[in-house]
Formats: sequence, C-alpha cells, structure tokens
Amino acid sequence: MSTVSHDKLSSSAYDFIDEPYLEGLLSGKPADAEVRDVIKKSLAKEPLSVEETAVLLRAEDDQSIERIFDAARQLKRDVYGNRIVLFAPFYIGNECVNDCRYCAFRRSNPDAIRRTLDQDEIRRQVEALENKGHKRLILVFGEHPQYSPEFIARCVRQVYSIRTGHGEIRRVNINAAPQDHAGYATIKAAGIGTYQVFQETYHHETYAKVHPKNTRKGDYLWRLDGVSRAMEAECDDVGIGALFGLYDWRFEVLGLVAHSLHLQKYYSVGPHTISFPRLRPACGVNLDQSHFVDDDQFKRLVAVLRLAVPYTGLILTAREPPELRRQVMAFGVSQIDAGSRIELGGYTEAGDTQTIEREQFQLGDIRSLDEVMRELIVDGYIPSFCTACYRLGRTGEHFMEFAIPGFIQNMCTPNALSTLVEYLVDYASPETRAAGETLIQRELEKLPEGTRKSELIDRLHRIRQSDARDLYF
Ligand code: SF4
Repeated sequence: MSTVSHDKLSSSAYDFIDEPYLEGLLSGKPADAEVRDVIKKSLAKEPLSVEETAVLLRAEDDQSIERIFDAARQLKRDVYGNRIVLFAPFYIGNECVNDCRYCAFRRSNPDAIRRTLDQDEIRRQVEALENKGHKRLILVFGEHPQYSPEFIARCVRQVYSIRTGHGEIRRVNINAAPQDHAGYATIKAAGIGTYQVFQETYHHETYAKVHPKNTRKGDYLWRLDGVSRAMEAECDDVGIGALFGLYDWRFEVLGLVAHSLHLQKYYSVGPHTISFPRLRPACGVNLDQSHFVDDDQFKRLVAVLRLAVPYTGLILTAREPPELRRQVMAFGVSQIDAGSRIELGGYTEAGDTQTIEREQFQLGDIRSLDEVMRELIVDGYIPSFCTACYRLGRTGEHFMEFAIPGFIQNMCTPNALSTLVEYLVDYASPETRAAGETLIQRELEKLPEGTRKSELIDRLHRIRQSDARDLYF
C-alpha cells in the first residue's frame, strides 16, 4: 500500500512481489535434468521465469554450479562478445531527507560531510574526468528538495556542454530518487541515457526495517513503481538493482527477475541494466552481518542473473576489490566503472586514499582508469566508451534489435574499437597504448572482410592521423 495517491503511480502499479511464493520456490534440491533444461533455455537467449531462475539458485552441488558458470561465460560471449563498457560515477550532492540504515548520507548521520557541487565545481570535475578519457558518466544525487527535476536537468545539460580538447561526455545516466511522471519528463528532456532506481531489497519486512516509514524512501510501492513511471515518461532505458547483504541473496535475485518480467509484460522491454552492489563499510553505519554475501555466492548471483536476463546489461561497480572484479567479469558483466572517486569533488581533491566521511560507502577499487583499461586489454576484453545506440535512438525495445545476429560484429565491436583508439591516442600511458594496439590488430583479424571492416580501418586511421573523433555506426 502506498501513501501516494494512485493517480500519481504508473498504470501498471501494484505490489508484484509475492513473497511467500518466491520464498517457496527456494526450497529443495533440483534434479540435474531440471538444471540442464533451464541452462539450455538460457543458452537459446530466452529470458527465464522466476521458477526457472529458482532452479539455478537451488543448485548447490559443485558440478551444477560449474555448469552454471560455464553457461554464463558462454552466454556473455554470445550476446556481448568481449566488450566491457566503461563509465564513471559522479556525485553531485549528498543532502538527503531519507534515513536508510545502510547509508552514510542518511539524514541522521552527524559525521557525514554534506556538500552540493556548484556550477564551477561541476565544470572542474567534468574537465578532470574528460582529461582522463571518460565519455560516459552516471550522476548521483541524494533525495532532497534541492535536487528537483529542474536542478538535475540543469546539471545534465551543463555536463554535456563541457569540452576539453577531444574530451566530451557523450552519455549521462542518472541515479537519483524516483520521480513522478512530470519529473521524469523534465529530466529526460535534458538528454539522459539510463535512469536508475534501486529497490535495495524486495523483502518487505527488511525494507521497512532499513527505510523508516516516516521517510520518502519508506514507501515500498512508490519506489517499486519508480522505473515504470519513468518508462511511461519516455525514459525507456531504466536500471534496477538490489543491495546485496540486506536479506537472502537468492530472494533478491528472484525479486530482480520478477521486476524485469513485470517491465517486460507492461512495457514490452525489460530493464536496460541491473546492478548488484554488495554492502560495504560506510561512515557511521553498523552493518547487520546476518545476510552477508561471500565471494562464492556473489559469483553465483552474477552468473544466475546473466542466464536469467540475457539482454539486460549487468553493472559491476568499484565497490568490489580488483581481483574479484576480474574473476566475476567473465560471468556476464557488461559494464564497469573505473578510475572512480565518490567523494564530492573527488576527481580533483581525493588523491590516492579514500576519505570515508566524504563517501556514501567505501570503494574496493580505486585504481586509475588507465590501470583498469590495461588489465581489461591484457585479459582479452575490448574496453568500450560506445554511446551509439542511445544517440541513434536504439533505446528501450528498439535496443532489442541487439538480438539480431551479427549486430555485435557490425555495430558494437567496430564502435568499441573506435572509442578504444580515441583513448589510446588521446589519454593512454605508453604501456596501455602498446597493449591496446596489439589487441586492435587481433580484433581486426577476427572481423570478416567487407565494407564494414574497410570503413572501420579507415576510421581508425583518421582518428590516429587527425582530429576526427566520435565516429560510430
Ligand atoms: S541511500 Fe540514498 S536515499 Fe537513502 S539515505 Fe542514502 S542517499 Fe539518501
């Protein structure tokens, strides 16, 4: 039940999280044949039901878990190839009216250092990000009257307007409070990509425990319905997520899948991305450890999500330490952040250490963008800053053309290689440039001969030899 009048909710608003049913799906050991059948369906690139996803979550024996990992690796290659899309988080303001028990920015935390960047500070941060080579940002805001849709839209427009040499931000995503339809429309009009709203936990009792009732975020249905309203306001690329460690990780995976299926049913397209952050130490926060997710469980939840939602991007953030990120990436991750700083003003002020009083939570990976780029290249991934689909209107259900055979070869890989050459020419260290040029030669050899390949080779040459930039199919 929501405290908000129903006309403010979306046309598909109801509490579709049937807890007893989902909990019931998680008991018992599945037969081997059940696990194989579900994996077979995933490898055919068909989204899974909550019942099928539960079969994979209940599979606890090593052999089944290995089969799930292998299938997730395979599906990742089949749908996303070897590209990893890169972005950076950019915190604009941490004032907040909410009091989420797991967050350093909650209103009752006296130790949080409050700040909202002004236009000069935003410009300096964006210039610093552009000078590192970033092209895709996610702007992050607390929930506060100060961060109105008009304020968020103004920040988006300012970010797009900032140029430094060949540096520019080509896609701005948003992680902020759920809006009403008018609010989303105002923000969409500023030209955003994805709008992210995380339910944090789909478990009702836990949700009420960590989100006090007398706060805006205490309204379970208003939040659950958040991205549905966004879709109805033409924000057709939406991102959902859960904060793993608040409740049983298997239940949260089912919640995310149920949410994806709800969007698919009512809007003909699932979420553009799913995020699965794990609880991290945070200033003034005493975390209940009872549902903590260990590294093996974390790998399993990523692999199962990969198999359950084949066409939804999976975002792995710098919350996680470098070595675990490296391992988990193979199981289906399609997007990561790199060179991330989440202190307000962090891209010019933070230095090599973290100041936890200035962060929402502690990061696990603060390596530079260049270090992460080099590791990806050495591991055989193509780091990509591509923004073509969003700028050519291939969003929401139109994005699903993605499924067309050959789309990766014809669009994604050539675009990824173009953005990679831009990075190597304009920003890379000599070591990263050398490794990148070797990777590009190898990837070009893999592409079939034809018009697309020769067009691409010509473009890469122009990027290396001239000021030509931002070339995409
Ligand atoms: S999680 Fe978000 S809404 Fe909750 S207190 Fe932190 S900044 Fe505010």
